[in-house]
Amino acid sequence: MEKAQAKQEIERLSNEINRHNDLYYLENKSEISDYDFDMLLEKLISLEQQFPEFAFDYSPTKRVGGDITKKMESVVHRFPMLSLSNTYSEEEIIDWENRLKKLSDGKLEYVCELKYDGVAIGIQYENGTLKQAITRGDGTQGENVTTNVRTIKTIPLKLKGDFPADFEIRGEIFFPLKNFQKLNEQRLDIGEAEFANPRNTASGTLKIQDSKVVAERGLDCYLYGVYGYDLELDGHYESVLKAKDWGFKVPDHQKNFIKKTDSIDGIMEFIHYWDKHRSELPFEIDGIVVKVNNYEQQQELGFTAKSPRWAIAYKFKAERVETILESVQYQVGRTGAVTPVANLKAVQLGGTTVKRASLHNSDQIEKLDLHLLDSVYVEKGGEIIPKIVGVNLDKRTSQNEKIQFIENCPECGSELVRREGEVQHYCHNENLCPPQIKGRIEHFIGRKAMNIDGLGAETVDVLVEKELIHSYADLYDLTFDQIVNLDRMGDKSADNLLKGLELSKQVPFERVLFSLGIRFVGETVAKKLAKGFKSIDAIQNAKFDELINVDEIGEKIAISVQNFFLEERNVEVINRLKAVGLQFQIEEKVGVTEKLKGMNFVVSGVFTSFSRDEIKEVIELNGGKNVSSISSKTNYVVAGENMGPAKLKKASDLGIIILSEDEFIQLLNG
Ligand SMILES: [Zn+2]
Repeated sequence: MEKAQAKQEIERLSNEINRHNDLYYLENKSEISDYDFDMLLEKLISLEQQFPEFAFDYSPTKRVGGDITKKMESVVHRFPMLSLSNTYSEEEIIDWENRLKKLSDGKLEYVCELKYDGVAIGIQYENGTLKQAITRGDGTQGENVTTNVRTIKTIPLKLKGDFPADFEIRGEIFFPLKNFQKLNEQRLDIGEAEFANPRNTASGTLKIQDSKVVAERGLDCYLYGVYGYDLELDGHYESVLKAKDWGFKVPDHQKNFIKKTDSIDGIMEFIHYWDKHRSELPFEIDGIVVKVNNYEQQQELGFTAKSPRWAIAYKFKAERVETILESVQYQVGRTGAVTPVANLKAVQLGGTTVKRASLHNSDQIEKLDLHLLDSVYVEKGGEIIPKIVGVNLDKRTSQNEKIQFIENCPECGSELVRREGEVQHYCHNENLCPPQIKGRIEHFIGRKAMNIDGLGAETVDVLVEKELIHSYADLYDLTFDQIVNLDRMGDKSADNLLKGLELSKQVPFERVLFSLGIRFVGETVAKKLAKGFKSIDAIQNAKFDELINVDEIGEKIAISVQNFFLEERNVEVINRLKAVGLQFQIEEKVGVTEKLKGMNFVVSGVFTSFSRDEIKEVIELNGGKNVSSISSKTNYVVAGENMGPAKLKKASDLGIIILSEDEFIQLLNG
């Protein structure tokens, strides 16, 4: 491609992709399929690689992350980022409003907003392009986190409409609770400790050096404060509406996230509404903020030494209840990590009955200085289960016995170990400790791992208890006769299970590697290792230095991988899995077969055993061709879940054969 043409095409693609991205993330709409979106992005990535000099600051490829920030530089704010004065009392809000009325001449209007429990951010736009994003820091200067902020998909890289040439917009970056829980599930999956709260994790995430990790975590952001010179805006509320026109995700007044009122009653109504409904929000808030709307009046009212006079924050009292700690129970996970859980006398909290609270680890018990039958304070944060935040010492008697962390595994009795630098205690009796055996097998069959249809956690429990299996390798030796007579099994389920195991032999190497359950080897790390070494043998024989030379593989992971292969039992299990035909290497790319030669495929929807890209790769490796839209020239449509009904109809109208994932595999296997 000619240089001039490439430049034009890069600009066209950047704008087009940004537009689709904003439609999707800001307005919940999509004009094109995920596949077509990915195709556009791939095209742009490859053009930018050929002509890096033409890549824009607002290029949507920055969303994917990958740029590393070695050291976050400190930057002075153009407009100081002051904090607001806080109160827990409604009385003080009333006093504040009365005071303002006396200080101010004209009639006052107020804007009520949510107080997002996240990280304050100031983002500068120049000529409509995101230039710089700075954290609050000490209010005078903060840290430059621009590269990471660019990966947050609800923050526009390029604006639309009649935006000012140079301005700053402020808001709050937060962790949506759903994404926070997902992150913690992933961490548990690889034997890492859970993060305790969404705000601190959001703050930590923004400071990660590798922007790709930031992109994967799924932070979100509301923006609402516009700052600049000569902005020609009259008030706060109007500027929020303007910011929406420029393409920002602003608080939605239809959801009552923001409201304009001219009375103290209106303010109180807003406070009471959110005190009652805040637990229904998909993110955490810790209060509400009230501001004088009119900018001129704001200026007249001015500032105290620390904060603006024209704004105040009302903080909700944390939902906290007191109850009795009845006992502490210890759970053993797949990796042998022991987690203490408090059993509480049932109590109502935030609309649900609470009977258990997380204690995380022995340090936590020590820090709280917990005694049995203590009267404890329980709060609910972003976690799935609530936590104990303190003890009512007035109610403790000398009979309350101090809680001592257990020394032996509650499941198998072997001695627990706590390694230096780790917070968790572990049971190292991996091969005989029942929850570890079950946990490893459950991990192995999981959806993101081998995804074995027809086999669930309950069946695994029964199989382990009946001693039909001791490791995941034993799964492949199961016979129809062995399983058909199990509780709730029967002919059909037994067939399904065996078929599921058979199909799993096609699962690609990187997922087999993840399924093995090597500590710290999650989905992403497994992919990197598979790509870097191509086969399990190469990983097993890799020296420490070779391991840490792979992108994203640090010392901790390298040690864990080497330890895994030092266990003879693990090597044995892998050899058995190799013998039954699981994929332990990356298939060589060049022309595997020509089975699909001359055939055109459309791949659409979500698949269970493979990703869409994997299916497309398999088609190409076997001589077939992937086309993006259905036409009379299409031979097959490979349809996953959620394939659009319009596409499906078009395919059947044209008489094109529609294949399920399984049918596609059958076609391949001849
Ligand atoms: Zn144990």
